[in-house]
Amino acid sequence: MPEITTKSTERSILISVDTGKPGWSYSFKELERLANTAGAEIVGEVVQKREKPDPRNYLGKGKIEELPSAARLLEAGTVIVDDDLTPAQQHSIEGISGLKVIDRTALILDIFAQHATSSEGKLQVELAQLNYRLSRMKGKGIELSRLGGGIGIRGPGETKLEVDRRRIRNKISRLKKELIVLEKRRQIQRKRRLRSRIALIALVGYTNSGKSTLLSSLTHSDVYIDDKLFATLDPLTKRMEAGGEILLITDTVGFIKKLPHQLIAAFKSTLEETRKADLLMNVIDSSAEDLEFQIKAVQDVLSEIGVSGVEILEVFNKIDVLSPEDIEYLKRNHPGAVFVSALRGQGLDVLKKVVRKHVTLHSQNLKINSS
Ligand code: GDP
Ligand code: MG
Repeated sequence: MPEITTKSTERSILISVDTGKPGWSYSFKELERLANTAGAEIVGEVVQKREKPDPRNYLGKGKIEELPSAARLLEAGTVIVDDDLTPAQQHSIEGISGLKVIDRTALILDIFAQHATSSEGKLQVELAQLNYRLSRMKGKGIELSRLGGGIGIRGPGETKLEVDRRRIRNKISRLKKELIVLEKRRQIQRKRRLRSRIALIALVGYTNSGKSTLLSSLTHSDVYIDDKLFATLDPLTKRMEAGGEILLITDTVGFIKKLPHQLIAAFKSTLEETRKADLLMNVIDSSAEDLEFQIKAVQDVLSEIGVSGVEILEVFNKIDVLSPEDIEYLKRNHPGAVFVSALRGQGLDVLKKVVRKHVTLHSQNLKINSS
């Protein structure tokens, strides 16, 4: 989808509304990292303090009118917005500024599109992109669409927009059918696993916290790792051994703050693995200055996808870059958590023991349930 794809060195200006809510600066920093991951070069930032975004132009009109000259000075061609825009806002900002406008959903979709590798991942991203495009098309050509599509109405009487929309809807239903087939296959695999009573551990956590690194060191395998947001998109499941017990461990999509709703819907089936797991390991980057913000972001997404009743083990990663005092502080505040360095292999034995204990409890529960 060329209109929302950022090229490798797209010089961009970030814009955001600071409503004074706590955590705004972290959320803005997250946008900056997302933009970098998508391949944008940030050359300017415009932040406006106001109660809420302007319904017409997101920022005040005056601020939007300043964008063209700022963009000329900075040689920027793109504006990246910290929130989701209504189609009307997007239209208006584009009209006034003459710049390409990308909102948060479009930005994340672009990153997902670049990183999806499995056929299911690719289908999910394409579906989300089409839904996004369809939602942008609303409000135009309403007069005609009242008549509906179908026999007798197609043809010259139909506007180009109508044709486009119908094509997109058809494509959407095709993709949905393909996804259902893949979902069924996944269900069969899940049933097989349940029968074999092999426990499943799902790694969750804020993106870049070290989930893939931990998966790799726990299973002694090579997993793609990159210091970027969403370096992995598709869940990957591997076998691991803990105290003689064989378990499955799966990597999931990294979580972020303000994960757009459309995307949560799009990744429902991927995230389903999380809901069906026997144990969740919440991998936390202990070196992140916005640590508590990240923990909250993960909790929010988990409750949004309806994870309840699954045990969550907090795993503080990257302790190799922390001072002993910092580690002590975290230990005091998070009793029950495990502290590791996935990169240096520190604390992994303790982690395995704790996991083993959880898994033993799990199989006892299974026996009780089935007797
Ligand atoms: P994911 O997005 O959660 O899968 O995170 P990755 O496993 O891809 O890791 C993100 C970045 O953090 C990479 O640059 C890793 O090398 C780095 N990283 C992971 N674990 C550790 C750790 O224990 N210590 C340090 N210092 N860096 C780590
Ligand atoms: Mg990863």
